[in-house]
Amino acid sequence: MKVLKFGGTSVGTPQRIKEVAGLITDEKGKTLTVLSAMSGTTNSLLEIDAALQNDDKSKASDLLGSLRKKYDDVIANLYSSEDYKAKATSIVGDFFLRLEALAAADYNDYTQREIVAHGELISTNLMHQYMLQQGIKAVLLPALDYMKKDAAGEPEFDHISKELNRLLSEHKDTDIFLTQGYICRNHEGGVDNLDRGGSDYTASIIGGVLRAEEVQIWTDIDGMHNNDPRFVEETEAVHNLHFEEAAELAYFGAKILHPTCIQPAKVNNVPVRLLNTMEPTAEGTLIDNSLSRGTIKAVAAKDGITAIKIKSSRMLLAYGFLKRVFEIFEKYETPIDMIATSEVGVSLTIDNDANLNAILEDLKKLGTVSVDRDMVIICVVGDLSWQNRGFEAKALDALRNIPVRMISYGGSNYNVSFLIRSCDKVKALRLLSYHLF
Ligand code: ASP
Ligand code: MG
Repeated sequence: MKVLKFGGTSVGTPQRIKEVAGLITDEKGKTLTVLSAMSGTTNSLLEIDAALQNDDKSKASDLLGSLRKKYDDVIANLYSSEDYKAKATSIVGDFFLRLEALAAADYNDYTQREIVAHGELISTNLMHQYMLQQGIKAVLLPALDYMKKDAAGEPEFDHISKELNRLLSEHKDTDIFLTQGYICRNHEGGVDNLDRGGSDYTASIIGGVLRAEEVQIWTDIDGMHNNDPRFVEETEAVHNLHFEEAAELAYFGAKILHPTCIQPAKVNNVPVRLLNTMEPTAEGTLIDNSLSRGTIKAVAAKDGITAIKIKSSRMLLAYGFLKRVFEIFEKYETPIDMIATSEVGVSLTIDNDANLNAILEDLKKLGTVSVDRDMVIICVVGDLSWQNRGFEAKALDALRNIPVRMISYGGSNYNVSFLIRSCDKVKALRLLSYHLF
């Protein structure tokens, strides 16, 4: 079984839906395809929800009306047969009745979750009916029947595996399955989701529990690039990445993949392939457990970083000092990205400064505190194990004329990170591409 995932742009128009249907049927063997909502729909649904939260029912109803109109147009252009037009109109009509009922009812904890779930419910049903019209025997597996997260928001892998395998076993003769990305049930059994961009995660979870042959993530770019194409000219797709390299890149800014997405595939050693819907024959990026020795693969940047330096008031880093520092970040549920220590102090970075003032107040009890805002982490990813010679030096050399606030190396075998001012970011990315690739 292969798991295929198509994002919102890939199914963003009737034409795209038709092309994606072609890509799915081109694949040999069994496939389970995860679809996102058509592009723009999740945002529209969230706008409808925002109007309801503001108690503006008339705005919500106008927005629902225009969304409905959009889907009427999609239906008119997607199906050639009057029968399927009527079927799709009735299915989509039922979803809109439900949306209208949610909008009319009193607002509660589940209103938003149920409303946003409709993007994926609609896109998968449209694709399903289209495939049936084309004579393709596809089966739509409702994600709400098997995808589940626990009270901590983590996927319930055992439950997912059991229920999904049960559903699949009911259709032994079927080769083509469809399902919704993003949506799930929570520990209360209510409709919920895996956070924005969560369809990648759905695909990886499914790939993991089914020990799939591979997970294909289809987007509108030909794989992960070796630098940020928005700032650097002539970036290139990286054809092979180790799971750890891909995770670092996703976390540190490469927007193509949802950072948590890799984990379930990685744990189960299921390769993840990034492919381009607009250019299906391009090689893309294959992410698996193999490492190309001695190469630097890519550079990524993470914006909006705040650096905090704490100098111990006792001059030497007494034992227990770091623990007390970390406890403060734990108390305010603020993750730390980068860290560097010296005899007398510690520097670290955060990207969530919601509780910065409270954190600083607490840190001041431990020593002298200083803060640098508006910083960027530049992450260089590749085979950077410590036994290799010269790779850190190359990266550092590229940044020779840029003030570097912090360096982090050795936390993994796969990256070296630099903290610089955001005004130096573009220059740094270009210099790194020039010197490394
Ligand atoms: N439709 C959801 C979103 O826009 C999930 C996804 O596309 O992955 O965030
Ligand atoms: Mg996405």
